[in-house]
Amino acid sequence: MSLFDVVGTAPAMVQAPPLARPAEAAVAPTATHETSRTRLLVDAIRRRLPGARVQLTDNKTVLLSQSERDGVRVVRVHQLFLDAPTPVRDAMATFLAHGDRKSGRVVDTFIEAHGHLLTGAGRALKDGAHRGAVHDLLPMFHQINERYFADRISAEIAWGQSQGLRRRRTSITFGSWDQRSRRIVIHPVLDQPIVPTLCVARVLHHEMLHAHHGERRDGNGRRVVHGPEFKADEARFHEAGRADAWFDAHLDALLRWRPGTALRL
Ligand SMILES: [Zn+2]
Repeated sequence: MSLFDVVGTAPAMVQAPPLARPAEAAVAPTATHETSRTRLLVDAIRRRLPGARVQLTDNKTVLLSQSERDGVRVVRVHQLFLDAPTPVRDAMATFLAHGDRKSGRVVDTFIEAHGHLLTGAGRALKDGAHRGAVHDLLPMFHQINERYFADRISAEIAWGQSQGLRRRRTSITFGSWDQRSRRIVIHPVLDQPIVPTLCVARVLHHEMLHAHHGERRDGNGRRVVHGPEFKADEARFHEAGRADAWFDAHLDALLRWRPGTALRL
């Protein structure tokens, strides 16, 4: 499983439509998967806005925007949406075409679930941002850096900010790597006594691999996020299987968690 791209199934109460295929949760992103995600995103937009030019951005303040240049509609979409499940991707495209409130709500829900990854990016971290209520990421970072990276990784590390979520999550991203600020952010749901240190370290190691591998492009200039070399390095993490089994077993509880409450497994 990939910790970066976990997609859970939506409970019946959620405003977002249910996932088309719950099996998506089990799909591990490969280079091909990454390519197809870009393709799917562009196709979803072009079905509703034929001829539109689609640009993927990492602009943290404007996640979706569009303009017209020489009669061509240019749509800018944050790369966050590469991780969106099919119904969200479709709602995003419909929203761009029609600006309707129903689609807008689906997009909002998705952004809320991933917003902790965007908050504060580009701004300086507060002192002690690596220190959670339970888990301190800094000693963990040093240990992993020494053991797997010969102390060569330099990165900022922080716990993500909790946001007042009222709606149910349909997906959760446990960590992120921002190439520009060289910053790793870990989801606050993992800063809980009940979460094994091994599992926090597993996510941190995954994000440090992004720092190590950097941005790669395939022969067609497309972003390769979890390529074969990345996967091979990731498999070297001690007890990766045990950590992944924990995430798999408790994904529903992790999706249900609300900031300010205790995680109940
Ligand atoms: Zn990743």
